[in-house]
Amino acid sequence: MRPFVYERARNAEDAVAAIRRHSRRDVPSVQADGQYIAGGTNMSDYMRLDVMRPDFVLDVNEIAGDNMRRIRVGDSGLRIGSLVRMAEAEDNETIQRDYPVIHDTMKLAATRQIRNMASLGGNVLQRTRCDYFREVSFPCNKRDPGSGCAAINGFNRQHAVLGVSDSCIARYPGDFGQALVALDATVDILGPNGPRTMRFADLHKLPGDTPWDETELKPGELILGYNIPAGPHTKRSRYVKVRDRDSYQYALTAAAVALDMDGDTVRDVRIALGGVAAAPWRAHDAEEILKGRTLDEDSAAEAADAAFQSAVTHQHNAYKVPIGKQTIIRALFETRDMEASR
Ligand code: SF4
Repeated sequence: MRPFVYERARNAEDAVAAIRRHSRRDVPSVQADGQYIAGGTNMSDYMRLDVMRPDFVLDVNEIAGDNMRRIRVGDSGLRIGSLVRMAEAEDNETIQRDYPVIHDTMKLAATRQIRNMASLGGNVLQRTRCDYFREVSFPCNKRDPGSGCAAINGFNRQHAVLGVSDSCIARYPGDFGQALVALDATVDILGPNGPRTMRFADLHKLPGDTPWDETELKPGELILGYNIPAGPHTKRSRYVKVRDRDSYQYALTAAAVALDMDGDTVRDVRIALGGVAAAPWRAHDAEEILKGRTLDEDSAAEAADAAFQSAVTHQHNAYKVPIGKQTIIRALFETRDMEASR
């Protein structure tokens, strides 16, 4: 690991100003000289691999105040600060009872040891696990703009089939992001020009021709927390994750589903997909097919087909389409069959 300066921030405004001073606008975020650190579970990994080489690392764990640390529950919804650890959210009884899809995305991620460390601010910004991104001797447009993509003609079994481009086919690796997209969350951000709030669904960018430009965050901007509106669908929600092994593994395919049912009829549905897309992915086409219909094998299969109609596969990852469809169907039925009183 290369040498770097380590400092602790005491308030969010000073943190933003310090990272802004160490930011250059013309480099990918992965190459930025200044980086925030909270849990460090993702970034320290990439620093050891020499993928990230910051010369200034700012620890945000001691920023004063509750805004970034607390889980708050109100009639209108849930607020989760960005310094809340995954394990804290996993253990929160309100989240378990009223937002089970969020609980699922915590308990099915990584290991408990990692969840004790990992912050929810860092979680949504975790970097791709594409092996060619992680090994600096390979060409990778996301790490080194214009160098090419070793995965497109390489071993691409783990890679995405939705939202990909000719420049990058990496999958978004997280789980929590799918719950946030499905539940129409917003994200509070602090930047050099003050605070702003945006739809979480707008935070991540698809790769297009610039896969190194991964989010809408400007240099220095810091995630403060997430707002998740409450609704009749939030209690009836689930996350189904299919993996090579049942623990400590990223998703091959995954589906977050939230349902509002009127008897057997779907009044409202939200579906977000993981493991198969370049960013947290809302399956709007699938949702539209289900609204106002009885949720049965026919309608679920139709919705699953619609979710993957724009899929682009490569040599080793075409299997994700049929498995991804089955994951949606299973998630829909498991969510439908949750206790009606939930
Ligand atoms: Fe890099 Fe994306 Fe290609 Fe992987 S898929 S090698 S991250 S450009």
